[in-house]
Amino acid sequence: MRTDVLVVGAGLAGLHTATLLARAGHAVVLAERRPALDGTIRTTGIFVRRTLDDFPLPPEHLGPPIRHVMLYPPSLRRPVTLVSQRDEYRVGDMAPLYLSAARTAVDDGVRLLLGTHYVARRGPGSFLLAGRDGALRVEARFVVGADGARSAVARDLSLDRNRHLLIGAEEVFPIAAGDGPPTFHCVLDPSLAPGYLAWVVNDGRHAHVGVAGYAKRFPNGMRRALTRFAATAPGLGSRGAAADAVVDHAQVERRGGPIPVGGVLKRISCVDGLLVGDAAGAVSPLTAGGLDPCLRLSEHAAAVLDDALRSGRPDPLEHYDGAALRARFRGRLLLRHGLAQVRTPAMATTAFSVLRTRAGRATAARILFGDGSFPSP
Ligand SMILES: Cc1cc2nc3c(=O)[nH]c(=O)nc-3n(C[C@H](O)[C@H](O)[C@H](O)COP(=O)(O)OP(=O)(O)OC[C@H]3O[C@@H](n4cnc5c(N)ncnc54)[C@H](O)[C@@H]3O)c2cc1C
Repeated sequence: MRTDVLVVGAGLAGLHTATLLARAGHAVVLAERRPALDGTIRTTGIFVRRTLDDFPLPPEHLGPPIRHVMLYPPSLRRPVTLVSQRDEYRVGDMAPLYLSAARTAVDDGVRLLLGTHYVARRGPGSFLLAGRDGALRVEARFVVGADGARSAVARDLSLDRNRHLLIGAEEVFPIAAGDGPPTFHCVLDPSLAPGYLAWVVNDGRHAHVGVAGYAKRFPNGMRRALTRFAATAPGLGSRGAAADAVVDHAQVERRGGPIPVGGVLKRISCVDGLLVGDAAGAVSPLTAGGLDPCLRLSEHAAAVLDDALRSGRPDPLEHYDGAALRARFRGRLLLRHGLAQVRTPAMATTAFSVLRTRAGRATAARILFGDGSFPSP
């Protein structure tokens, strides 16, 4: 099979990059190992205001707007409540969102191969895939690694790879609408979520209950931490009400996966191709939000590849420079380092006393309600 661009991975980054390239008139093959895009979802799907403002996501697949954030110490007592004047977040109904993005891609001319693994690069411009009907060789002018945090394309192009990862897991279930406003609850407790947060997002339609942290630091493993958190998680009404809300346990969806938090990687392009999304480390090191970064970086990637394909030369790919973007993440990388140092519930409780001050609340509001999800490339 011959094509202009082979995109590996049909997460949001791969779907968006492939669609933009096809719209620009290029031949694009998009290979995805999952047999269906509405299965094995790896994200909570919280979209921030900046994304909702700048990208046309189908509103019918977005939950109600969220303005309330509650931050809890390990004791769960006296949470800090932050309320924005604006709608800050909406949780995507990810299965239909992925399906709708895939339909758009195919309508725009992308050749989507589901159930198809990228196996290896066989030489310049030659790639081996394994599909439903066996091995498949693809000749492509460029390859795009949109294959997630542990990218095989990055490996084969000798580009930088993510080394600083969290792992996260959550349970998602439909919930009966409660009395309170849609709220994002975050618990700072390193015994549940070492180096990050445990969360409940309850938008009145669905509840997401999750934990994330450094894999080696979960005292008894991540699964147990999630079970422990789910038993006492705030924001679900009385626990009895929450248990009632899980009307049918078959409706509980489990999600999870790695989250790169080391910042954008420096070397994310070469003459043969480039990386987007998690493969490029395009995730906010502090909030671990990657949906806005993956969409923004995909636009930059598609523009650079379009230039290169039109000029017939790979030179424009030199402008796809992770080091320049990374420099603008310095503050967030420092804060990530700080969060990683909170190793005991006692330290988290102390950190909370700072958060309760006026300056602490203002900083938290800037991080949670600010516009700094990802620098414009
Ligand atoms: C538990 C959890 C919750 C999160 N919640 C949020 C959130 O609420 N908001 C937010 O902004 N960010 C969140 N993130 C981060 C965000 O989900 C990611 O940054 C974003 O989805 C990355 O998109 P992507 O397209 O780069 O990668 P992915 O969505 O991981 O897509 C990569 C795709 O590549 C495919 N693939 C991999 N290897 C191969 C191969 N060899 N051949 C073919 N296909 C391959 C995979 O099957 C996958 O479909 C969360 C992450 C986790 C783990």
